[in-house]
Amino acid sequence: MKRIRALFAAAVFFAGALLASCGAGKRRYEAQFLQLFDTVTTVVAYMDSREEFERFSEFIRDTLEEYHQLYDIYNQYEGINNIMTINDNAGAKPVKVDKRIIDLLEFSKKAYQDTNGRVNIALGPVLRVWHDYRTRGIEDPENAKLPSADELSKMNRHTDINDVIINREESTVYLADPGMSLDVGAVAKGYAVEKTAQEAERRGYNSALISVGGNVRAIGSKDGRGKPWNIGVENPDSNQDGEPALTMRIVGKSVVTSGSYQRYYTVDGKRYHHIIDPDTLMPLDYFKSVTIVCADSGLADMLSTAVFNMPYQEGADYIDSLPDVEAVWIMNDNEIKYSKGFERYLAK
Ligand code: ADP
Ligand code: MG
Repeated sequence: MKRIRALFAAAVFFAGALLASCGAGKRRYEAQFLQLFDTVTTVVAYMDSREEFERFSEFIRDTLEEYHQLYDIYNQYEGINNIMTINDNAGAKPVKVDKRIIDLLEFSKKAYQDTNGRVNIALGPVLRVWHDYRTRGIEDPENAKLPSADELSKMNRHTDINDVIINREESTVYLADPGMSLDVGAVAKGYAVEKTAQEAERRGYNSALISVGGNVRAIGSKDGRGKPWNIGVENPDSNQDGEPALTMRIVGKSVVTSGSYQRYYTVDGKRYHHIIDPDTLMPLDYFKSVTIVCADSGLADMLSTAVFNMPYQEGADYIDSLPDVEAVWIMNDNEIKYSKGFERYLAK
C-alpha cells in the first residue's frame, strides 16, 4: 500500500490558473493519476486553495484505488478477495467478498437481463481468447491471427450468467462452472467512478470532473453555480488531441464512449476491436463509436458497450425507452446520429 502510494505521488501533478470570470477567487486545479483501471485518471476542480484540491484529489484517488483492487481480474492484492479470487475458485468454492463486489455483480446480472445479453460479464473465457490473440498480434503484427470459430464456440460453453451464484446474506460469489470466468471490463470502471462521485457529493463537493480513461463523470457544474462543463466526443479518426467530433455541455452527468478505434489489432489489413458480440463471438462493425449521456456513470458504461453491440434502430429504440438517457452514434461514414432528447446537451 505504502509503495503504491509513493508511486502515485510521483505520477501526480497539480496545476492552477487564475479564473478571472469565476469570481470568489476560485482557481482551476488538475491532477492526473496513472495505474488505475489500466488507464489515465484526470481530476479537475475549481477550488479555493491548493490544499483543498489536494485533499479532494487524494480522496478520489484512494477511493478509486479501492475499487480498482476489488474489481481487478488480473492481479491479486494482499488481504483482499477480488474478482480474480472468484475466478480462481470457479467450480471449487464460494468466495467471501466485499459488498462492493456483490453490488457490481448484481448490477451486471441485471444489465444482462435488461440488454438481452448484449453485455455479459460471464463472457470471460471468450474475451480471454480475444485478449491473447490481440496481445500477440500487437507484439508481432506480421503473424497476427484470428481465433478460430471452433476455439471461440468451445469457450462459449462456459459463459452462462446463471452460473454466477451470488449470496448477498453470506456475501459470497460462486462460479458454478469450473471453466468459467468473469470479465468486468465493460462495467467496472464506470461503476467505480459513479460510486466515487456519489461519495464526493455526499461530502459536499459540488464542482469537479473525474475522467478515468475518458469515462467522464461531472460533479455539479463548473463554478458550483450552474455553469456547464464542456465535454467533447472524440473524433474516431484523429488522436485524442485532435478536434472533437462534437462538444456537449453538461451539469452533473456522465459521458461514456465505446469505440472500435480504442483497442484493436490488425489481421490481414482488417481491424478487430475489443468489444465482442455474444452471438457471433466476433467484433461487430455497425459503428465507429457510441456515446451515452446520463446521470449514472455505471449505467452509461454498461449501456455504451450494450448499444455498441446493437444494430442502430434497435439501440435507438432501446435508448428512447430509458428515461433521461441519451446517445450519439458515429456511423462508419462519419455521419452523426442523435437520440431524441440529445439536443439539449449540444453546445451552441
Ligand atoms: P473500455 O473499457 O475500453 O472503455 P467498454 O466499456 O466498451 O470499453 O468495455 C470493453 C471491455 O469489456 C472489453 O475490453 C472486454 O473486457 C469487455 N467486453 C467486450 N465485449 C463484451 C460483452 N459483449 N459483454 C461484456 N463485456 C464485454
Ligand atoms: Mg462500457
